[in-house]
Formats: sequence, C-alpha cells, structure tokens
Amino acid sequence: MQYSIQEIGTILGVPVNKEGSDKISILLTDSRKLALPAETLFFALETKNNDAHIFIGELYEKGVRNFVVSKTFPEWADFGDANFLKVKNSLSALQKIAAYHRKRFNIPVIGITGSNGKTIVKEWLYQILEKDYNIVRSPRSYNSQIGVPLSVWQLDDDSQLGIFEAGISQPEEMGKLEPVIRPTIGVLTKIGEAHQENFVSLQQKIMEKLELFVNCDVFIFDEDNHLVAECVDQMVLSQKTFTWSRKSRDAHLYISAVKKKGEKTVINYSFLDFDDSFTIPFTDEASIENAISCLAVALYLHISPTGISSRMAILEPVAMRLDVRKGKENCIIINDTYNSDINSIKIALDFQQQRKVDRHLKKTLILSDILQAGIPPGSLYKKVAGMIEQSGVERVIGIGRDITTHQDLFSTPEKSFYLTTDQFISSGEWKNFDHELILLKGARRYHFEQIGALIEERIHETLLEVDLDAVVHNFNFYKSRLLSDIKLVCMVKANGYGAGAVEIAKTLQYHRCDYLAVAVAEEGIQLRKEGISLPLIVLNPEVNGFEELFNADLEPEVYNFRILEAFIKESERRGITDYPIHLKIDTGMHRLGFLPEQIPDMLSVLKKQKGLKVISVFSHLSASESWHFDDFTHRQMEIFRKAAEEIEQAFNYPVYKHILNSAGMERFSDTKWDMTRLGIGLYGISASGLPGLKNVCTLKTTILQIKHISSNETIGYGRKEKLERDARIATIRFGYADGLDRQFGNRKGKVLINGQYAPIVGNVCMDLCMVDVTGIKAEEGDTVILFGENLSVIELAESIGTIPYEILTSVSPRVKRIYIKE
Ligand SMILES: *Cc1c(COP(=O)(O)O)cnc(C)c1O
Repeated sequence: MQYSIQEIGTILGVPVNKEGSDKISILLTDSRKLALPAETLFFALETKNNDAHIFIGELYEKGVRNFVVSKTFPEWADFGDANFLKVKNSLSALQKIAAYHRKRFNIPVIGITGSNGKTIVKEWLYQILEKDYNIVRSPRSYNSQIGVPLSVWQLDDDSQLGIFEAGISQPEEMGKLEPVIRPTIGVLTKIGEAHQENFVSLQQKIMEKLELFVNCDVFIFDEDNHLVAECVDQMVLSQKTFTWSRKSRDAHLYISAVKKKGEKTVINYSFLDFDDSFTIPFTDEASIENAISCLAVALYLHISPTGISSRMAILEPVAMRLDVRKGKENCIIINDTYNSDINSIKIALDFQQQRKVDRHLKKTLILSDILQAGIPPGSLYKKVAGMIEQSGVERVIGIGRDITTHQDLFSTPEKSFYLTTDQFISSGEWKNFDHELILLKGARRYHFEQIGALIEERIHETLLEVDLDAVVHNFNFYKSRLLSDIKLVCMVKANGYGAGAVEIAKTLQYHRCDYLAVAVAEEGIQLRKEGISLPLIVLNPEVNGFEELFNADLEPEVYNFRILEAFIKESERRGITDYPIHLKIDTGMHRLGFLPEQIPDMLSVLKKQKGLKVISVFSHLSASESWHFDDFTHRQMEIFRKAAEEIEQAFNYPVYKHILNSAGMERFSDTKWDMTRLGIGLYGISASGLPGLKNVCTLKTTILQIKHISSNETIGYGRKEKLERDARIATIRFGYADGLDRQFGNRKGKVLINGQYAPIVGNVCMDLCMVDVTGIKAEEGDTVILFGENLSVIELAESIGTIPYEILTSVSPRVKRIYIKE
C-alpha cells in the first residue's frame, strides 16, 4: 500500500518541504536493507548506541529522497530535492504512522504477548486459520518497538486477519505498541521470568503486558495462573474475558484431560454445551499450553470442532532460527526451514547478504514453492524474482510446480528448476556446488533437510552451538551501559574465546562494532581472508610476523622498546608513514607494557620518527572483577590516567585511552574513557555476576551406550570409581581430547540430559566419559549438554577451581561449531 509523502506529513503533523508526488510503500529503519529507494521513507532512529542520521548522506546517494529525522545537519543543504520530515522522535513517528495505517482496517486483529510461546502461538494460529482468512502476521519474532510497526505496515486491502506479537523488556513500552496493533482479540501466553531485569516485580511486568489488551473485544488467558488472574482483576478492562483452565469447570474453556501417547498428546475439552477432543503431534508442556491458547482463539472465531481437530493434528514445529553450517567443497550453508512466505524470504536473503563478506563465495538460493495464500502465483513469483535480483543472488534452484511454471520471471545468471526435491537430488546438480554461500529455503513439505544432508560436511554428533543473537544482545547490553561516544573493542582472540572468531567477527562487523582484537597476527590474517575489514589490534605481536602484519593492515600493540624500534625500522624500510599502533602501559599487572618511568624515553623515540602513529594508549586491570582489590584497581586507573595524559600531551592529535575489560565495564562504568575492551561478557559470562546477559555457547554431544552395572563394579580406567549401588551408566562421546578437564571425573562434574543432571563417573577418558543416569530419563542417542544455559560455565569452572575462560577456550578444534540465529 502506498501513501503520498504529503499524507505522511499530515499524519505526523509536520510540514513537507518539497512539493511532489513521491509515493511511499516502504518504511526503512535499517539502512543496510535498502531495496526500492524511490518508494522508501527512511527513519533516522536514535538509540543509546546508534544514531542513524549518519546514514542519510549514503542513502541519498543511493536515491532515497524521503527522511524522517529528529535533527538536521548543514551538509544536507545540498540535498535540495529531498524531504526532511522533522519530528521530536523518529521512533514515535514510525509508530504513529503504523497506528494510523492500522486504523484503516476494520478486520479482526489478534494481539499476542507473554514471556514464552508468542511466536509459536502466532505461527500455529496462522497454520490453523490460513484456510479461512487471508492473514498478515509478524515475520519471525518481529515484536519490538520497531518490529511491531513494520509488521503492521504490511496490512493491505486484501488482508482479512492480522496476527501480531508484542514483546517488551521495559516498563511503558506496551502503551506504545497497543495503538499500533490495536488488537480486537488479545492472547496472553505463558508468563515467566524472561526480561525481568527491568521490572521491579513479576506483577509489574504482567500489568504492563496487559496494557496491550485495554481496547480488545475479548481477552484470552489461562486463569490457573493466579498472579495473572489477580492482575486482571485489578485492571479496568473494558472487554470480555475468555478464560481457560485445566482445573476449574467454571472457566469458559475447561481442559478436562491431557494424555500423552507416544509422540502425541490427546487433549479433551468442554466448551459451552459440548465436549470434544483433539490430538497434537507434540508432548512437551509448552506445546500443550500453546495449543490450548490456539484452541481458545479458534473456538472464539467459530472454527468447527472437526476443523480444529483436523488442523491441530498436523501442526508443524516452528523453526525459530536460521543456522549456518559448513558445507562440502568450501561452501557455507544457511539453513532456514522457517515457513516459506515472502517476508521470511526477504529476511533470509538479507542474512545471506550479511554473511557474504567473503567475496569468493557465489550466492546461491535453493527455493521451494512458496505457500502463501491470497496472492495470485503470477504476481507472487514476480515479487520474489524481483527481491532475488536485488539481493544479487547469482544462482537460483527452484523446486516445485509453481516456481517451475514461473521460471521465466527469474533473471539470475544461473538458474534451474525441478518439480520435486527428489528430482533435484537425482539430477546430481548438487555435486557441482563449489565455493558457494547456499541459502536453503524450503517449506517443510519439500524436505530440504535431505538436500542439507547431501551437501553438509559430515556431521559429528558433538557440537558447540553458538547463538549469534545472544552475542548481539550481549554486545548491545554493554554498549548501552557506556556513554554513547565510547568505542568498543571486541575481543575475538583465542578463536573468539572458543566460539569461532570468524563468525563472531562477521556478526560484530555487521552490527558496527568499532574495533576487534586478536592475540597473534595469524588470527588477524585469517579474519582478513574472511572479509573482515574492521580495524584489528594484535595484542601480542612478534617481530617475526611483521611482514604479514603490515600486509594485512593489522594494528600492533607496542609493549616495549624492542618491538617499538623494530616497527619503526620496518615502517621506514617500507616508506610508510603514520602506521597505527597502540601503546601498552604496565600499571600493575606486570605482564606486557612500558612501565610509567619509561614513558619519557619512549616518547622521545616516537617523536623522532614518522613511520608510526599512536592511535591509542591502554593498560589492563589485574583484578577488576573483585571488590577486594578495588583500591588497587583505582590506583591502576590513576597511574594510567597520568601516563595517558603525559603521552597525549606529546602529540598534537587526540589519542584514545582505554583500560576497562568486561568486568571493568560492569563495575566501573562511571569512569570515563574513550574506548573499552569487551571480552568474556560478549560470550555471555559476567565475571561480576551482573544479570541480563544471554548464554552464547552450548556444548552438546550424544549418548553412545547405556547399560545396567551392579553395585561393587568399578567404572573406567584405574578402577577409580566403585559403585555403591546398582546403577544405569551412560557412555557419552566426549573426553579430555575434546576439552573435558580430567578433574571433572569421579563425580566432580556433571552433564545435563533431558533437563536432569547426571554426574560424571570414573576417570574421564580421551574421547569418551561415563555418566550415572540412574533414575534419569535417558536413552541411547539422546543429547547430552556439557555446558550451556542451565549448566553454566561459571559453575563448572568453580567446581574444579579454574575460570570460565579456560573452560570455553579448551573446547577442542575438532568439535564442530554451528551458528544459530533467530
Ligand atoms: C583478553 C583481554 C581483555 C578482555 O578481558 P575480559 O575479561 O575477557 O573482558 C581486555 N584487554 C586485554 C589486554 C586482554 O588481553
């Protein structure tokens, strides 16, 4: 749908400076996702971390002419043919336009909030209702202050039902989303502790969430949650409530029985004057609860009980994430099994673009028929082909009847089409993939996992799963604690604390981190080869590695006279001037660095040369995490401040100063520096116990064998462990060669199997170890978690007297890393 720019000016109540007939169809908040410049209205959002006004020049160059801004800059005077709509707050303006757009539609709109299950309930409602309505819904989990308006903006004249989710992490956010969604049907999913840190109590968080429902016709919730029921009582809600319960027959919808049978669950219910039942192909509690929420909505919308039971029976799991895996023949495979609709294709293509920093990889897309009701196939595939062309995909493989019928619409350099997945597999075309970045995007019924299995590198069942969304969350978490102009150096040394430096660096580069740091030149060179162009500091450079260091534009830490003089010589030999270096001062750690008393001599050496330029001066704290040593830490900072001033005064340009690491940022965020260095916190571990970080790494393996062993038998090498009772012992595929410290043996350590802890028994072997699964639900082939969300690296480290850093970096390179992203 389009709005004229004049109309938008009127909605926002601001003048439009240029006459003209520009039609706006795209609201853009992320300059990297520019698609059709002429129809784009860019919102220059300002957050604590970023100010998007800086991208306006670049967008103007690319043809964008309409901008919503909250300030103006003199250099825009040249952009005479552009419109600048000046508002107080660009985000509020975005929400206002979406709210205006929403008002034009007199259709049912389902608004979903809660702590868990929002996206699943939304997707399942879509699966249940798509036959009856032409539905617009939030793509993936676009439920933020920005995601919600962008979701609602998709409503158009064909829409018959909207399903939107809203997520909040702070007080007062829901009040802003309510007019944008303006739900007629409200659904509250499970309430838990997620995003609790900004609320004083669970009650406050619930009350806040309920704000979404103040104007609904009906509000659906689980009345067995007493806290929710109490909050509902306190709210002045104008609408009807529709409650469900597993305990009380007085609820509108009474769930009379829930029986698990093998892989399925049968749910019996009473509603009005009838009893019925249906089956879902899941057995976990969360799925049962989510299915009941969907049932309530379906009943409210008068879907017949037979319709409900036939659709519930084929509910599909919702793949929430994209994952990135290594393929054969130097390919990288992005696997996205999320429902194949047009929005999710756009998101996946953006993600592919983001990963394509390495120029040698060809962009390939394997795409199935798109299952999207409501748009005639001709215009649907035209749109998709346009999107693909814009995103620069070089090779398209289409699988399915519809896409094959419309193959002429695709204009990529290479293309081929198959009616079925089997046909593609037997064609053998997949055997010639080579150096490609392959996006696999198929609706579930096309079983693209079969293609994945052929082109992925052999999968070991031992994996380190790295959550890239959590990395971004943690990055922003620290960024938001800093004053806005402080630069962040992210540590990707030691292969990104074990998580894999390349993918972490790509993610940080995309999210506009300022600087990266590695320990040795080889690490930096590898990152350069993979397309990382951010400035990179090498912390422990060696005189031997100079050649490569200069060639790869790596910026050395200079910590003594030997290195300093060698660098000066090399820069002079190469005829370079102003090569960037970072000076390290030893303020008490006594590892690397110039001592304060060496500074005058160092400065006189530096002043006599032109080859090097000091970009920053820094020092490292020895005990920033420990309040025991706060006096010492303050003394280190004082020594550093003096040293840095002395150095800065010697030059006629500003020099960045930095001393804080992760724990330093957590505990001394009030001290002012120009840069900080984020390490372990990025990987989800707070040395000072600060809440709010997300777990990044999960180490997983599988059970190879389970057997019953009698009391008095011994387990493993050296007969260290003698069983005191009969036990069920599982052997798992992980040993000290994979990075499991031998100290975890003999019940010092534990693993997590199906949500329960199992102690490690006997000595840890090289490639295997044994765990006691007596009384625990465990089968051969089950997944075993060695660390992750509910088995924290911090706790593990403490149990054997080491630090989280060692546990993370000890995971052997032979353990495959996979990267996931929502
Ligand atoms: C590793 C390192 C850091 C990061 O430390 P964390 O405790 O992981 O935040 C910062 N500065 C230097 C010099 C380092 O070597």
